[in-house]
Amino acid sequence: MEKEITFNHLRNAEAASYIKKRGDAYIALNGGRFANTQAHIKSIIIVILFVYVYKSGLVSAVWPAIIFSFLRGIMMGGIGFNIMHAAAHRSYSPYSLINKTLAFTADLVGWSMFQWNIVHNQEHHSYPNIDGHDNDVNNEPFLRQSPSQKRRWFHKYQHWYMYALYAISSLVILVNDIRRYFKGNTGMTQREHFVWLIGKALYCLLYLFIPFYLLEWKIALLGFLCMHVGLGLTLNFVFPLAHLSEDVAYPVPDESGVIDNNNRIHQIETTANFGADSIILELALGGLHLQQSHHFWPHVHERHYRGLNKIIQEGCTLYGIKSKSYKYWGGAFLSHYRHMRNMGRSDANLAIAA
Ligand SMILES: [Zn+2]
Repeated sequence: MEKEITFNHLRNAEAASYIKKRGDAYIALNGGRFANTQAHIKSIIIVILFVYVYKSGLVSAVWPAIIFSFLRGIMMGGIGFNIMHAAAHRSYSPYSLINKTLAFTADLVGWSMFQWNIVHNQEHHSYPNIDGHDNDVNNEPFLRQSPSQKRRWFHKYQHWYMYALYAISSLVILVNDIRRYFKGNTGMTQREHFVWLIGKALYCLLYLFIPFYLLEWKIALLGFLCMHVGLGLTLNFVFPLAHLSEDVAYPVPDESGVIDNNNRIHQIETTANFGADSIILELALGGLHLQQSHHFWPHVHERHYRGLNKIIQEGCTLYGIKSKSYKYWGGAFLSHYRHMRNMGRSDANLAIAA
């Protein structure tokens, strides 16, 4: 990490306070910040579907193995979006043990609760779209994702090859997690070491030992790779669309490390929504299509995001804050594609400097 970042909380303070007060009142009026019974039922259905596709993928026939392993990867993404993400933000349950147990699903799908907490909860949520501080916009030298990053000759092709990188991204996350762990200096407590090791043991059992024991090794390997491709594409057809588009800000701090904006308004200006009215996205993505609400209230469960989004948009209109919402998922997908194409083709620094 580079120099410490601070925010000028006085700028846009009135807008932030207006949105915050109205949103907090809305959350209190609608049963508090945690998941409700409907969300619990959705979680159970997702786990049942995962078990079904997991079992169905343990077959020797090539095509069913490919299809169900790919679907298993998608379901792993579904668990991440709808269960793990909320639990890791402590917005699933008022009970810490339940949140920690459900956040452990990160380890079961090949990530790590410990790393997720650092990279997502701390770095990404504290400094979205700030180059050098948000890991989600730092995949140099392979991709140029932010205007302040150096452009290399091969970036002019990145809007094509990025999909290949997205397909292997969950495997890369897994490998990086293991690499970081064995490098040492993780800062983990003894308990965190234990949880990490149990997580990796269960991951190996579910996706390596059982398939390789039951199936021919070629089919087991094929299934393993298809699963990770399914997971990688699922993650990347959702997460980057909110932050890596043409219509959001990529603020640059001044020499003292100050971003000249209120942190909460920074969160809105660096984040785009998509498909706000889509019931399908609401059911599938755990609120990640309404990430402005998520970034403004990261410790509030997704069930409130639609209502909170209306409050954010009203506040933005009232105070002249730039806010971007794509009507459909496709609009956000295309904007991400164009953003990456522009980043690869032009040196123009489009960053909104602080
Ligand atoms: Zn989050």
